[in-house]
Amino acid sequence: MCVEDGDDRMSDVAFPIVWAIGLLVFGGILAGRVRLLLAARPAARLDRFPARVRRAVVDGLGQRKFLSGEQPAGIMHALIFWGFVVLMLQVVLLFGRTFDAAWNIPGFAADQPLGPPFFIARDALELVVIVGVVYMLYRRLVAHTPRLSGMRRAEQRYRDAPHWEGVLILFFILFIMVGGLLYDAGRLVADDIHGSERDLAPLAAPVAAALGGLSRSAAQSVSEVGWWLHCVTILVFLSLLPLTKHFHILTAIPNVFFAKLPPRAAGRPLAITQVPAAPVAALDPPPQGLVGVASLADVSWKQVLDAFSCTECGRCTAVCPATASGAPLAPRQLILDIRDRLYQHADEQRDGGSEPLISDEVLWSCTTCMACVEACPVGIEHVSTIVDMRRSLVDEGELDPLLQQTLQNYAGQGNSYGKSSRMRARWAKRLDFTIPDARKEPVQYVWFVGDFASFDERVQRASESVARILHDAGVSFGLLYEGERNAGNDVRRIGEEGLFELLVEQNMAALGEARFEAIFTTDPHSLNTLRNEYPEYGLEQPVYHYTELFADLVARGVLSLRTPLTGTRVTYHDPCYLARYNRITEAPRQLIEATGAELVEMPRHGADTFCCGAGGGRIWMTDDPALEERPSEQRIREAQTLGELDYFLVSCPKDLAMYSDAVKVVGADFEVAELTALIERALVAADPVTRS
Ligand code: SF4
Ligand code: SF4
Repeated sequence: MCVEDGDDRMSDVAFPIVWAIGLLVFGGILAGRVRLLLAARPAARLDRFPARVRRAVVDGLGQRKFLSGEQPAGIMHALIFWGFVVLMLQVVLLFGRTFDAAWNIPGFAADQPLGPPFFIARDALELVVIVGVVYMLYRRLVAHTPRLSGMRRAEQRYRDAPHWEGVLILFFILFIMVGGLLYDAGRLVADDIHGSERDLAPLAAPVAAALGGLSRSAAQSVSEVGWWLHCVTILVFLSLLPLTKHFHILTAIPNVFFAKLPPRAAGRPLAITQVPAAPVAALDPPPQGLVGVASLADVSWKQVLDAFSCTECGRCTAVCPATASGAPLAPRQLILDIRDRLYQHADEQRDGGSEPLISDEVLWSCTTCMACVEACPVGIEHVSTIVDMRRSLVDEGELDPLLQQTLQNYAGQGNSYGKSSRMRARWAKRLDFTIPDARKEPVQYVWFVGDFASFDERVQRASESVARILHDAGVSFGLLYEGERNAGNDVRRIGEEGLFELLVEQNMAALGEARFEAIFTTDPHSLNTLRNEYPEYGLEQPVYHYTELFADLVARGVLSLRTPLTGTRVTYHDPCYLARYNRITEAPRQLIEATGAELVEMPRHGADTFCCGAGGGRIWMTDDPALEERPSEQRIREAQTLGELDYFLVSCPKDLAMYSDAVKVVGADFEVAELTALIERALVAADPVTRS
């Protein structure tokens, strides 16, 4: 859109008035939204300012998640965004010049030439935005991309809602661009412009050539129509912005800026572990003065900003294991339900409300796998919100009886099985050596075993393997024996913050009696809270997953896998709490490679792994009768698409339990095994596996 002499094509008085009215309408609606933010509870989100700025630039302005996600939709969104931002900056310039023409505002010189780079950039960006918008319209109107129109049971309301809004906004953007183009092309013809200005307008010039047969006054009219189409559409677009999902144009980058930052993990001395600190943020404690979030009166301003910022792209719902299994939860719908409630019942911010904000069934369906948060391009924190709401349910006793019993077990015995803590290390009695008690003699590593690896008979064999491997390699390690309690990761995500703090206190007391340099654990859930949340309670030593420790031992030649398992074909399931929460994806693969087995990746692997369905306390909850197929069973089917396999490998005790059950339901030719089983084979076995 050209601006240098636009003022002579309009009324010097009418146009500023139109602008002023448009801005007043926009300001009035925006003020209502700002009031919702101001009425919300506080949230501390200004720590580590430079890291926040960096993330806002990379993820927000740089559109990182769009560029690294599904294509070509991601790149098209980024192109529209960048083009739109630059063209809107041009509108600000236009705005200033328009007022300058009427009232001579200092700082905006209406007659200042803009030069060739401006023409080229303007036309190139208009072209980019037009191509992007046409592609997006194609996805909505022709291809009917499922993610854009509601998915499965949990999004029935979204599916039933009219989707005219997204289409309308795309047409607005198209009109803004086409209006600008017509204005420029008409002006080139009406003013008979040739030479460098025309040559440097790669999009307007061909359109001008097409208009070449028009008289000067007709071309002038085309230019003026384009001008008004461009400007009026911008004003209507701006006024509608806070009323639609496209409010995210204004709120998304601030939302990315204010999203919780990943915790800083303690020092990491292992040679092979160069992975960054956890990319996923630890949970906040409950809002100040509250046990949890029960109504709109309890939501924080960040949760309000989350609701404003949802683009309704559906990336979160598309990766959600709960949605995939037919549970009533869809993360997009959850955020939109909060938004609808805010917009329609703002008074509840003052006096609460009688209806629950989100239903219990939805909240208890979450596995806290974090796939939604990871997928969301605008920094929305579904899991923190779900946990905040669960805290309130737990406080009111609104939870599954089995889960209630499990929490009582934690409170009474410090483990989910409700067994005496003296039985915690009973599995170690089957070994032909004694594992030192780290509270009685100094060791290099404390092994934080976790509940499943201690008490579940299916997993105890894997614990024995780990113990044997480390013992034979001469590694100094010990246990806390009856001093160990559940680390509390799942307890916290169930929403029992008080119990979590009690478990932390008990574990810190046991660790305080021990002398050690570092902790390792076979349980990714324990790893997550020990590594990322315990430092807030005073833990200073680094915490590793056993695959990191083993990979380090292999790399240093301490552990020598002498029997290559050539001919053994395996796949590996990345646990959410290892791969997504803590980015530990390379160490398990290095170990598999060291065994000589052939690794075949499932389509969803690494940080994009699919949840087994056990996390966030789901493993202790009764299945929804309407569930179609459990996530673990879907995962086994995913592995079956890889052809013949010998092992489906896991590196999490809960995964071993979940997938051992899932193969019984689905039926599979391969064996579900802990990665340690493969390592032990490579250490001692002589024969490669023979497939039947
Ligand atoms: S954490 Fe996982 S299960 Fe929960 S809403 Fe997000 S994607 Fe769904
Ligand atoms: S929450 Fe994020 S990922 Fe989900 S629909 Fe909204 S913007 Fe997209």
